[in-house]
Amino acid sequence: MTQSHDGTDFWADRFWAEDDLLAALRADIAARAPRIQIQAEAGAALTTLLMAAGARRVLEIGTLFGYSGVWIGRALPEDGTLDTLELSPTHAEAAREWFDRAGLGAKVTVHVGAALDTLRTLTGPYDAVFLDADKTEYPDYLDRCLPLLRPGGLLIADNLFRRGAVAGEPEAPDSAVDERSAAVRVFADRIASDPRLQSTVLPLGDGLSVSVLRG
Ligand code: SAM
Repeated sequence: MTQSHDGTDFWADRFWAEDDLLAALRADIAARAPRIQIQAEAGAALTTLLMAAGARRVLEIGTLFGYSGVWIGRALPEDGTLDTLELSPTHAEAAREWFDRAGLGAKVTVHVGAALDTLRTLTGPYDAVFLDADKTEYPDYLDRCLPLLRPGGLLIADNLFRRGAVAGEPEAPDSAVDERSAAVRVFADRIASDPRLQSTVLPLGDGLSVSVLRG
């Protein structure tokens, strides 16, 4: 955050301010779920990237209460759709309520179950995929999602940094060899070196990777 002399956050106020609905959704997560939603700056990046890509059909893995899903849903055109995958029935039920309150209920389908199982039932092509569920499964999500993505489509993933643990930074709070960070590191290596992908990592939130599937 970059505080101005008047105590406000110049950039956040202008580019990733939450409206009342997003603020209430975040408060609801804080009250009754782990606070593991994306940060607002990553949400604004998602909306912007998806609009730039003209995304109509989007897949999300890891719904929680629908916070990132609302940022995604707001990027979609009138006939756009979001399929979002969630393991927890409790989270899925809360998300459906929030999507309805956001006016996105008709566009969003929340699929309950383990993502790797649900992915077998879905057919592409998707214009974009957003990964934010079990970090140990990121390499598997990559394998399953690339065939579902259209050429030119976007693959976006959160938590590439894991607060420094993926790169093995000495001051990282988690061990560099913890299972989740190790899997994200495999994922990072693969999206960086796969010739089918053009990738970068944006230093937003906990690190947001953005890959384009070459046509
Ligand atoms: N994308 C959400 C947001 O920013 O608002 C946050 C998602 S949270 C980091 C991860 C979610 O993935 C949790 O709700 C968790 O229950 C779900 N999850 C964990 N393992 C999963 C799996 N194997 N399949 C589907 N969902 C899973």
